[in-house]
Amino acid sequence: MGRNIAIDLGTASVLVYVEGEGIVIREPSVVAVNRNEKKVLAVGTEANRMIGRTSGEIIAVRPLRDGVIADFEVTEAMLRYFIRAALRHRSTLWGKPSKAVICVPCGVTEVEKRSVEMVARRAGVRDAFIAEEPMAAALGAGLPVGQPIGSMVVDIGGGTTEMAVISLSGVVVSESLRIAGDRMDEVIVAHARKKYSLAMGEKTAEEVKIAIGTAMPPRSNERFEVRGRSLKNGLPVTVYFTARDAYEALGDIVQKIIECIRNLLEETPPEIMGDILHGGITLTGGGALLRDLDIAINRETGIPVYIAQHPLDCVALGAGMMLSSISSYCVSRSRRDTTR
Ligand code: ADP
Ligand code: MG
Repeated sequence: MGRNIAIDLGTASVLVYVEGEGIVIREPSVVAVNRNEKKVLAVGTEANRMIGRTSGEIIAVRPLRDGVIADFEVTEAMLRYFIRAALRHRSTLWGKPSKAVICVPCGVTEVEKRSVEMVARRAGVRDAFIAEEPMAAALGAGLPVGQPIGSMVVDIGGGTTEMAVISLSGVVVSESLRIAGDRMDEVIVAHARKKYSLAMGEKTAEEVKIAIGTAMPPRSNERFEVRGRSLKNGLPVTVYFTARDAYEALGDIVQKIIECIRNLLEETPPEIMGDILHGGITLTGGGALLRDLDIAINRETGIPVYIAQHPLDCVALGAGMMLSSISSYCVSRSRRDTTR
């Protein structure tokens, strides 16, 4: 019998967890596709490497970018690739994985979830289950989800921000927002264009965000050197993008996330509010690492805010923890989707 696996099929990255082993795969959710024939050429890290180094015939597709499946065929190819990669991993070599828990963004429809299960089975998994992402995030963050205590988790990924209040292994209330890390990159690009007439790529914008992005007024005058093309005369130009610029660009997004948290708090039953006030809000996903985001949320809600220990790994770790008690966590065929 083989080992069980868990997959976090994220909008920005895919993580694969192998039971008894931990996270063994961590790659971008990118697929390289031939523009004309729509043929899948490479997946993950390898796909990323191909982009920009070819004739332009090859394009990068992020099939889950906005938290919905934009192209099922490409998503299927990606999932198959990662399951096969997990199968090739040494700890699963002595047999097929018998069970797989797969986390997909909340915007994925019921029909698509069933198709994802089918794809997983065709790729060599005996039993595939789809789990709710916020539940996996909360479990992976170490929150007491199985207890009669309300916990609140906010997962900020690439394409979506998903948040939920959880108690007794169930989602009590949840909210989902199509604003997260990618949108942060986009507003940095827009800010560079407007203020410095600079054409900045999204990859560079992500670097800027990670280096100096902040949700609170910056305390220092840190800056990030960006080389790009001037939109005025098309010539190469160097611009110093400051932490203040990043703060100004990101402000609206931070406010939208806080607004969504407020809505969720309003929907939260009063008997659970006390638990949240006490236990706080836990941030997971890559966006949780945006500097001072925890402070900004705390300032505006008055609730303590914690960043999970390994925010990028929570969903995969939580999905892995679900392997041993699938019936209590996974959305089975008969259960209603409570996230939308
Ligand atoms: P998903 O689950 O949707 O695949 P992740 O949880 O992997 O997404 O988070 C990816 C997002 O987190 C990206 O937008 C990335 O730029 C962002 N991110 C990663 N590290 C940081 C950081 N230190 N500061 C701000 N954002 C970050
Ligand atoms: Mg995620």
